[in-house]
Amino acid sequence: MYYLDPYRLEFEARVVERIDVGAKPGVILKSTCFYPTSGGQPHDEGHLNGVPVVNVFEREDKAIVHVLAAELRDDTVHGAIDWERRFDHMQQHTGQHILSQAFLEILRAETVGFHLGQVACTIDVDKAPLAVSQLDRVEDLANEIVFADRPVKTHLVAEMELASLPLRKLPTAETPVRIVEVEGFDYSPCGGTHCRRTGEVGLVKITRVERRGQDTRVEFLCGDRALADYRGKNRTVNELANRFSVGAWELAEAVGRLAEEARSNKRELNAAKNRLLDYEAAELLAEAEQRGDVHVVRKAFTDREGEQVKRLALRLMESEGLVALLGLAGKKAQLFFACSADLPYDMNDFLKRACKVVGGGGGGRRRFAQGGGTDGSKVGEALEIAYERLLEVET
Ligand SMILES: [Zn+2]
Repeated sequence: MYYLDPYRLEFEARVVERIDVGAKPGVILKSTCFYPTSGGQPHDEGHLNGVPVVNVFEREDKAIVHVLAAELRDDTVHGAIDWERRFDHMQQHTGQHILSQAFLEILRAETVGFHLGQVACTIDVDKAPLAVSQLDRVEDLANEIVFADRPVKTHLVAEMELASLPLRKLPTAETPVRIVEVEGFDYSPCGGTHCRRTGEVGLVKITRVERRGQDTRVEFLCGDRALADYRGKNRTVNELANRFSVGAWELAEAVGRLAEEARSNKRELNAAKNRLLDYEAAELLAEAEQRGDVHVVRKAFTDREGEQVKRLALRLMESEGLVALLGLAGKKAQLFFACSADLPYDMNDFLKRACKVVGGGGGGRRRFAQGGGTDGSKVGEALEIAYERLLEVET
């Protein structure tokens, strides 16, 4: 019945067979308005005597199976189709016919695939890459056909007559073939549900394209979906434009300026941090503990970036006669040991011993080594162990 009248939403029918589909009950009816998943279009939903129909598919013998949410014992049923879902599919599907023909007329691009998804619809066309201006022309023609509100008709055509029609694609079904005609524009064999006039399709909008080798995947939306998409995007654009205090058309420029500002701020901040480290290093040097000719800086930090502590250690090792034993205590422990060139200590050796206390490991070279562990509370103890090692080693 969906072939004869896609606008018919209610019907009565006799149950002719009951089957199990997985764990769910299924019924086959004498006739039905429920469209089964096929030709890229998803199935209808609705109710049979109040029981939800959760899936509809065509069995190998062409029987249409209605998969139900619960058992249905009645011999005759009253069927009701969910119109919102059906009409959405009709809009997307009819829009696809129009869009495919527009691709053919404007770019000589054939449609080689179609998918009607929950959110987006796609067609694959056999041309790539496609320029924005080309896509605009295709979109313009598709919408011109919509606004002209042309009738959409279906014909059952015998094999003999098929040759005389300007078909966009060849039929795969047996004759007589069902041909869907967008009056004077597109003829294609199709078993789906379609709007009766192109005006019902509403706006046809290409939302995204993606090159796939020699083909292009074209994402598009029609009718209510296009409106919902426009509504959401408009809201986002207005929100952003308000935040930037610019008009929507100046948004890209405003975002570009913000990104450039962020980059330059980051550069300046890094430079400032580096200058601060110089001061901090000088301060630590002034407070260093002196043991003979060796100055020792021993300090555990909290609440700062490991990278900063590391840089501090690297700065300190530029001085003469200095060993820096720096730690960072937080959730985890980090250790940075550095030694100036004129001293013979092995920081790798110090670090390996210290890391055992914080439950981790690390390594490096003789003059600089870094590591850490999982126990942030033992950083002080780890530094103590390194310090004791320093006292043990003869210079
Ligand atoms: Zn169709």
